[in-house]
Amino acid sequence: MNIALIAHDHKKADMVRLASEFADFLGRCRLIATGTTGGRLQDEVGLTVERCLSGPLGGDLQIGARLAVGGVDAVIFLRDPMTPQPHEPDINALVRACDVHDVPCATNLAGARWLLRALRAAQAPG
Ligand code: PGA
Repeated sequence: MNIALIAHDHKKADMVRLASEFADFLGRCRLIATGTTGGRLQDEVGLTVERCLSGPLGGDLQIGARLAVGGVDAVIFLRDPMTPQPHEPDINALVRACDVHDVPCATNLAGARWLLRALRAAQAPG
């Protein structure tokens, strides 16, 4: 299972908490993340993560490109709805790519928990 993880700055603490809650499951997945998010997941949760560029430098686009060729099965994208982002077009492009390719994408913590629970259940033996 290939899972992409991205969190805007005000959401990074939430992402670390979420990943800690699901660390066992995420540890069995192949993870890809934008640069800073991935660094925090490695350092603070101990996960192995393929790190792309930072989001504002093109990381969202790198993840979108991977997704477009079938390399991403689910996206957790904790967006900050209260802060304008310099790379808004890239953010929209990634969410659009999820819709184009019918890849599940959770953009807030509640949705992310449901998605990760469902993916974990789908992977459980038996
Ligand atoms: P970052 O990128 O993980 O490198 O901060 C996320 C973003 O801002 O899109």
